[in-house]
Order: sequence, then structure tokens, then C-alpha cells
Amino acid sequence: MEQLLTSSADAAENPKFLKKKPLIISGPCSAETEEQLIATCTQLAATGKVDMLRAGIWKPRTKPGLFEGIGTKGLPWLQKAKQLTGLPTTVEVATPKHVEDALAFDVDVLWIGARTTVNPFSVQALADALRGVDIPVFIKNPVHPDLELWMGAVERLQKTGNQKIGLIHRGFASYGNTEFRNAPMWHLPIEMKRRLPELPIICDPSHICGNRTGLAAVAQKSIDLDFDGLMLESHIDPDNAWSDAKQQVTPQRLAELLDGLTWRHETTDQQEFLNKLSQLRAQINQLDEEILHLLGRRMQVAESIGSYKKENNITILQASRWNEILEHGIQQGQRLGLTEDFILKYFDAVHLESINRQNRVMNQK
Ligand code: PEP
Ligand code: MN
Repeated sequence: MEQLLTSSADAAENPKFLKKKPLIISGPCSAETEEQLIATCTQLAATGKVDMLRAGIWKPRTKPGLFEGIGTKGLPWLQKAKQLTGLPTTVEVATPKHVEDALAFDVDVLWIGARTTVNPFSVQALADALRGVDIPVFIKNPVHPDLELWMGAVERLQKTGNQKIGLIHRGFASYGNTEFRNAPMWHLPIEMKRRLPELPIICDPSHICGNRTGLAAVAQKSIDLDFDGLMLESHIDPDNAWSDAKQQVTPQRLAELLDGLTWRHETTDQQEFLNKLSQLRAQINQLDEEILHLLGRRMQVAESIGSYKKENNITILQASRWNEILEHGIQQGQRLGLTEDFILKYFDAVHLESINRQNRVMNQK
């Protein structure tokens, strides 16, 4: 564990409490039997690519009747896995009793699951149970895309004096069939990184994807966004796992997946690279400035249209005109290599701002 965490003495130089980047956490979704857990954990350790073992002991399941975790009985198994492999362990806690039990069995790191982060009462109860306990706690994003709730959970833990808080991005629930089990909505973890740059953030591709095929791409994307590590579920017999069977991989497959990733650094001191990067960034700044100027002009024109419509008592919105703008934009965007999704988001934002500006012009007394 010492290799992974910064001591209080060097914390001033390295505000992130994690020493090792990337931090790789793996293990089964759920501890099922002693044999399954020990076999999975020893195989993971043998790959030499895993820094910490995970296992779900208490499982928050959507419906009763599904496997709800082996419970406290599984903690000695995890403790044994730790002794056999020398690797630290982490479990999900959702109640003060879970905290008490996990601590009694030497668990090194705790995490708060997505279904718990959504509930301020539960998070507060955990924060109270953890007051004065020196243990790292990772907070998963809440199930739905509510950044303030995620921030709130961090604040509740921070208020107890805990200096070792990290974040886990596990994606956000959305209704209907989508490519992901939980949509990554990357802009949200990016915003958390911006607001809380001193907190390590790791990505959980398993719960984002809900399948095995997408894991590598999501993991790579998180590395490219400078995340601090990965949490990936693994199981000696994934197809027969008691929970999350579709997304788990064998320890061997996990090692191959990790080998296939390209690890990148946040920066370098190579002068040539830095010069080239700053030239390109200067171009971006220049272009952004031009775009903003054009947008400013566009809004002025929108206001002129607003006063003209006001004089003639015409509505702000004409659906046919809006369709025409979108169709044209999508076609032109395609020619320029811009995705339809981006064009729609862009025009939505611009159009809404235009409507607000026209509204102000038309309704000012
Ligand atoms: C888990 O990690 O197994 C889990 C329950 O995840 P989440 O809280 O992201 O649903
Ligand atoms: Mn799981």
C-alpha cells in the first residue's frame, strides 16, 4: 500500500494522494465463493499488471431476488486474497455497518457506489461513520448526470477531514437501448477534473460498457483524457458470474487488454514537442476568437430580425425556417467532417441564444 499512496510529508509536492499512475484496480463484480475469489485474485496478481483487488461484498441490485452479495462472510476471503497476493483491497460500502465490517477485515480503500452517491442521507451516514478514519475513499458518480450531487458527496466526505478522496467515473443511466449500459458523458468527469484538479479520477469501463467489446476503447479514451487509473471487473469464469456476467473478463484477457492500451503522459519537457504544441494552440486561440466574433455578429443580426418581427407582429419561431437551418447545417457539416450529433448540439445552443435575444427585443417595454 505504501507504494501506492503519498505520505503526508510529500503531500505538499504532490497534492494527489495517489503515487502510482495509472492505478489499476481489478477483481470480480461480486465475491461469490472463496475459490472463485482466490482464483481470480491470484491470477490477477500473477499478471503483474494489477495494483489493487476489488470485490463486491454487498451488491445494490435493481430488483430483489437477484444475487445481492455474499455479505460479511466474503470479507475473510478477500483478506486471504490480500495475504496471498500482497495486493491491497477495495470494496463498496453503502452503510455504516459495511464500513465497520470492511475496516475490521483490513480493507485498504473503500468506494461509494453510484446508487449510494445519489442519496445525501446515505452519503452523510457514511461520512459520519468515516470521521477520523484515515482511509482512501473513491466516490462513484451518481447514477444520473447530476454534477452537483457528485460534488456534494465529495464535500460531505471532505468535511470530515478526509484528505484521500478520489472519483470514479462509471457513466450515467439513460433510458432505452444505447451503445452503453451507462453513457460516459465525458464532459461531466472532465468538468469534475476542472473543479477538483487535486482529486484523482479513475474510469470504470466495465459499468460504462456493460459488455466486453467496448472496454478497451473506453479505457483508452479515459487515458487520453488523463485519468489516473482504471477499475475493471474480472472473473475466472465470466459467463457464469453471479452478477454482471456480460461485462467481466478473465484475468488473462484483462492483461491483454491492458497491454493493448497506449499509456500517455500529461506533458513532457521535450522542447520540439512543446514548441509545435504552442503553435497549434495559438491557431486554436485565433480561430476561437474569430468564431466568437462571428457569433457576436450573428446575434446582432438576430436582434435586428427581432425588432423587424416586432414591428410586423410576427412570431419568433417559424418551424419551417428552423428545419431549413438544421438540414443545411447537417449537410454542410458532413462535407466539412463535422458529425450530425455535433451540428445538432451546436445549432441548438445558437438557436436558443438567438431566441432569447429576440425575445428580449420583442418584449421590452
Ligand atoms: C460495482 O462496481 O460493481 C457497482 C455496483 O457499480 P456501480 O455503483 O457503478 O453501479
Ligand atoms: Mn458490477
